[in-house]
Amino acid sequence: MPDLTIGKGSCLCGAVRVSAKTMSKKAHACHCSMCQKWAGGSLMMVDCGINVSFQNKENVAVYNSSEWAERGFCKQCGSHLFYRLKEQNRYFVPVGIFDGVEQFIFDHQIFIDEKPEYYSFANETQNMTGAEVFAMSAAATES
Ligand SMILES: [Zn+2]
Ligand SMILES: [Zn+2]
Repeated sequence: MPDLTIGKGSCLCGAVRVSAKTMSKKAHACHCSMCQKWAGGSLMMVDCGINVSFQNKENVAVYNSSEWAERGFCKQCGSHLFYRLKEQNRYFVPVGIFDGVEQFIFDHQIFIDEKPEYYSFANETQNMTGAEVFAMSAAATES
């Protein structure tokens, strides 16, 4: 099964459409405290790389959530549209806004050390702590 696909989707109200040219099929859940606040629970996302475009950008609001990342959402309906790593211009898009979500594979969970006790997913995934995630992205930028 190919690892990459083309993704198209939209927010809840349809004001913003997203298209990703080369995105991963592997979805992940982030359990970090910021995603918990932002999404109301863990946030399921898919790595869409840098080839992502949004239609009707005037409806996209951006929240500068940290030194390294920002989070976009629809001004009309509040749907979460992306988490973007600023330096790499790399987009992670919530899985649920794409059409045809059946093609995705729930592959890994990050910030597992920040996951609250009240839930856990039954899927067998690779799990990483926040420290492991930061170590991995530091290694990626060095190479
Ligand atoms: Zn919307
Ligand atoms: Zn997170």
